[in-house]
Amino acid sequence: MPIATVNPATGETLETFQPLDPYELERHLARAEAAFREYRTTTFEFRSQLLRRAAEVLDTDRDRLARTVTVEMGKPLAQAAAETAKCARALRWYADHGAALIADERPAEDDVADSGATAAYVRYRPLGAVLAVMPWNFPLWQVVRFAAPALMAGNVGLLKHASNVPRTALALEEVFRRAGAPEGCFQTLLIGSGTVAAVIRDRRVAAVTLTGSEPAGRSVAAVAGDELKKTVLELGGSDPFVVLPSADLDAAVRTAVKARTQNNGQSCIAAKRFIVHTDVYPRFTAEFAKAMGALRIGDPLEPDTDIGPLATRQGLDDLSALVFDALARGAVAECGGERLDEAMGQGWYYPPTVLTGITSAMRIHQEEAFGPVASVYRVDSLEEAVTLANDTPFGLSSNVWTTDPGEQERCVRDIEAGGVFFNGMTASHPALPFGGVKRSGYGRELAGHGIREFCNATTVWLG
Ligand code: NDP
Repeated sequence: MPIATVNPATGETLETFQPLDPYELERHLARAEAAFREYRTTTFEFRSQLLRRAAEVLDTDRDRLARTVTVEMGKPLAQAAAETAKCARALRWYADHGAALIADERPAEDDVADSGATAAYVRYRPLGAVLAVMPWNFPLWQVVRFAAPALMAGNVGLLKHASNVPRTALALEEVFRRAGAPEGCFQTLLIGSGTVAAVIRDRRVAAVTLTGSEPAGRSVAAVAGDELKKTVLELGGSDPFVVLPSADLDAAVRTAVKARTQNNGQSCIAAKRFIVHTDVYPRFTAEFAKAMGALRIGDPLEPDTDIGPLATRQGLDDLSALVFDALARGAVAECGGERLDEAMGQGWYYPPTVLTGITSAMRIHQEEAFGPVASVYRVDSLEEAVTLANDTPFGLSSNVWTTDPGEQERCVRDIEAGGVFFNGMTASHPALPFGGVKRSGYGRELAGHGIREFCNATTVWLG
């Protein structure tokens, strides 16, 4: 994939970039190593101030950054601005809480007395340069979600962003530079995915985090495994959205629409499989399809647009093929179901689509639909709902609509996912860990769990 800005609303190539040559890449890696040597010794106060200043830069530049994001990957402008604001909040959250999350841990003296220690504690030390291989779908947030805790812990960052968001990648580097980050502390590497393995293998890179597809995750984890380097993987999802009879149905429908179509439907934690109890199925499905069909599709720079184009032509082709396969095998499109690129001036548009009559023979039953396409299933019981919720290779998050505490407890116990959200939609928050199980990846981002992923928990023992 060339490194280029291509406007998904028109298909027009606006700018192309030369990847770093081996000499430039070497200079970046050398700078990262030199930066870490100094930066690891800085105080928590120094790092907090850096994160706070980065948040200020994001606030000041919100409109410009949002426009860059929208032009590169097509999300509605207001959502790009909201993403920028969320990044600023996360930076401030780690500035406020990071030091406490990785403060020295002291076990009770009694507990360690039989180890012969007069005292012992755990010190969370940084690992070094962490490589972040990041996707285009939340091109600011995915990066800040990694960078805020990593920098707070004293690591330095190397960003290999998706090849279709180079301007956003360079803007992020500039945010940290303007915030006063020491040289080499946070660098963007304009490289293709074919160069990632060599960077992982470089002795100056300590660890890797990747958000993206399963194949990318598998390939990065294989190389990192071969090098015995720590990885965190946040991959795809096909989250269930279970609606049970006690649900507030109006709220469930409203939230279902947002949970499926936010970010033009291209979110790993989007609700993708709607599993609805038979008692409420007819009303839920009718109202959901009506609301999905009423969304305004158009230029993401226009303020009244709900749904912009998909980010890449490949994404449009993949989603169309998934729906085509389902329809060919007997699924019914309650709304949408046909690509709109030709109708919409060559932009990569796909309409909000609601499919019913899904069977296990259809690809969409097992694969992730990365766009505004919802699969709706009908079930007769909570037990059937949980079984269906788990009938997927993924396990990122889940949503359940019920006010019954017994049903809630059952879902917390039995749904195989990294999150269970009741009567609302899954969203990431700096204070809550984020990540999945099964083929959604491993490790956690955000909260204390996220900051400790790239730390060396060092046992200090005093005799
Ligand atoms: P990719 O996983 O291909 O891209 C994500 C990042 O990984 C990019 O920086 C990409 O670089 C890099 N990458 C890709 N392949 C490799 C590799 N073999 N080794 C090292 N790095 C690699 O996502 P796509 O954009 O192709 O999207 C495909 C599908 O992935 C989507 O349909 C969706 O299912 C899933 N996805 C999930 C996301 C999530 O949030 N969990 C986000 C994006 C996609 P480059 O751009 O240069 O190829």
